[in-house]
Amino acid sequence: MHYISTRGNTGRKTFSEVLLMGLAPDGGLMMPEHYPQIGARELANWRNLSYHNLAFEIISLFADDIPAQDLHDLLKRTYRAETFGTPDIAPVRTLQDGIKIQAVSNGPTLAFKDMAMQFLGNAFEYVLAKKSQKINILGATSGDTGSAAEYALRGKRGINVFMLSPAGRMSAFQRAQMYSLQDGNIINLAVDGTFDDCQDIVKAVQNDAGFKQKYAISTVNSINWGRIVAQVVYYFYGYFRATAHNGESVSFCVPSGNFGNVCAGHVAKQMGLPINRLMVATNENDVLDQFFRTGEYRPRGTAQTFVTSSPSMDISKASNFERFVFDLTGRDAEAVRGLWAGLAQTGGFDLSAQLAQIRGQYGFVSGKSLHQDRLDTIRAVYASDGELLDPHTADGVKVARDLREAGETVVCLETALAAKFGETIAQAVGENVPVPRPAALADLESRPQNVRHIGNDAEAVKQIIAETGFSA
Ligand SMILES: *Cc1c(COP(=O)(O)O)cnc(C)c1O
Repeated sequence: MHYISTRGNTGRKTFSEVLLMGLAPDGGLMMPEHYPQIGARELANWRNLSYHNLAFEIISLFADDIPAQDLHDLLKRTYRAETFGTPDIAPVRTLQDGIKIQAVSNGPTLAFKDMAMQFLGNAFEYVLAKKSQKINILGATSGDTGSAAEYALRGKRGINVFMLSPAGRMSAFQRAQMYSLQDGNIINLAVDGTFDDCQDIVKAVQNDAGFKQKYAISTVNSINWGRIVAQVVYYFYGYFRATAHNGESVSFCVPSGNFGNVCAGHVAKQMGLPINRLMVATNENDVLDQFFRTGEYRPRGTAQTFVTSSPSMDISKASNFERFVFDLTGRDAEAVRGLWAGLAQTGGFDLSAQLAQIRGQYGFVSGKSLHQDRLDTIRAVYASDGELLDPHTADGVKVARDLREAGETVVCLETALAAKFGETIAQAVGENVPVPRPAALADLESRPQNVRHIGNDAEAVKQIIAETGFSA
């Protein structure tokens, strides 16, 4: 399997090469040259596989440059009950109203990003060791992505992590989650500024090409193909757990932000998994809902992005969306370049002529959920099922309820656990309802914390990397 860019001006790459890439040099995203096709025979053979064996069957189709035994060992180490809280890894349950919930949020940071990040951490370590390379990962986080990266990369050989976070702007739980890590290769830097300031520092360091090369600066952002491919696995796993036999089809409802999670669902459908519809759920930041309703894509800037009670979906420029548009154009890189050139000039583009294809062939529909919907859904599910949904999952359940048709099986992805969002849960059901937390995290906030405070200053970050990081 080789990989090509959505913009068409980057040479073919192997899986190991794209694994360490962010954006392609031509500004596009890397995509497999084709989608391996899964037929009735594979579906029959895969239905009862354990999670890591299923992961091997799927990922080996995309990562055929990694020797099979090595990949199998790596996946067995990654998808363990000790890491994901249950031997099922991504179990499916059914709510009273028939909506199914697939838990992809039982990893170390209680959000679905662990599903891919834990794989990425082991895959990075493996590929770097093969190449005798070392890297310094530099990232900025407002809470969730950074902690998933740190838990995936802690203790990994050949990798240092420098993670910038905005001082005093994360929840006590989020701070404790990141800063309590004591691994020598995890360097937490609390910046006197906002999340945007942190991102600007990362960009400034990356724009210093000499520094970037000397210190082998890399990132783990949501456009990494390795993350998408790891996420494809749980769509297959969820399909098998939600159906009695392979003749049935299911729809997935996905709380969305950067379009990374649902993009993996799109890949699974293109591979031949019997997915009926892909429901994109947004919050108040509804750029994607607007696109799937009207065909018009109009990303927004930070200033027009609302801060909401489902914060991991507060995104107005979906970084993986170009992958779907590439497929929609019939994989026409020139057309993709044209659309993004138009976007740069006019702030958007219009694909309303393709709406029938977007809904029919690709199965995409969408809906949106606002703060009050989130609270109402959390309260209603608590009353009917006696369980607490996290606010992002509540957005998904609200949209799934709105869009579901008679006889349609809908699996809603549970992208985080309520334990991370105590304030919103209390708003929904009152202060007196205890929010369950995994036993291993009971004392999280009282653990010693390990963080360096720095000013809003890219030079300070460079100096710390130069003092403690690897150099190439
Ligand atoms: C990241 C995240 C999302 C959004 O996923 P995308 O892949 O960015 O669309 C939704 N919910 C939670 C809890 C998240 O952490």
